[in-house]
Amino acid sequence: MDLVLFGPPGAGKGTQARTLAEERGIPQISTGDIMRAERRSGSELGKKFDEYMKAGRLVPDELVGELVEKRLTAEDAANGAIFDGFPRTLPQAEMLDRVLSGLGRKLHSVVALDVPLDVIIDRITGRRVDESTGQVYHVSYYPPPPELTDKVVQRKDDNEETVRTRDQEYRSKTEPLLSYYSERSLLRTVDGVGSLEEVMNRVREAIG
Ligand code: ADP
Ligand code: AMP
Repeated sequence: MDLVLFGPPGAGKGTQARTLAEERGIPQISTGDIMRAERRSGSELGKKFDEYMKAGRLVPDELVGELVEKRLTAEDAANGAIFDGFPRTLPQAEMLDRVLSGLGRKLHSVVALDVPLDVIIDRITGRRVDESTGQVYHVSYYPPPPELTDKVVQRKDDNEETVRTRDQEYRSKTEPLLSYYSERSLLRTVDGVGSLEEVMNRVREAIG
């Protein structure tokens, strides 16, 4: 099953994708996580990603396409994948359709998390990450265990100014994808406000 978790930055896509991927035994493909790993490696490609990421701007489609195609054709994704933070532009959505079609697959559904801006800001400002495992926490709603309190960090781009740019990028380039998927009858919108478990149950129900 190939599934997209959709929504603005901080909506809870990664959190839900991680649980769902474990449950279904298919990988979570987060372009943000892949880019952060590349950036940490210090590679030339990672340096290019960093330029855009620290400004809160989308990385150009050409760079994203190659990355996703490589990841999607890896053996562990042979039975499907849960995409989170991808696609973010119309060319990326078209590219995903093309690559899946080349593999004899198509998207099962796109689950959009509907979360108002005040909740998003609260989630983003409280987000903390364990960079060694990629596990995401929240200072209030999902606090890290005591032994990790000193280890978790705030993402470089989770500051007020960058969040504003990320929100603008989402509205101008990513949100239009809602009609792309709605026209193809793939869109399922769920209320993203509630506990992790409540939202998870809504996502499960939406997938069917
Ligand atoms: P995204 O991948 O959409 O950017 P994340 O999954 O990283 O979002 O979630 C953003 C923050 O909100 C994280 O700190 C996460 O722990 C927290 N979070 C996610 N879902 C919920 C929820 N249902 N209730 C409260 N906090 C949540
Ligand atoms: P995320 O982890 O999804 O919040 O993404 C963090 C940052 O990585 C974004 O603000 C972009 O700069 C970059 N990024 C992640 N995924 C994509 C994508 N699919 N297309 C373009 N840029 C991306």
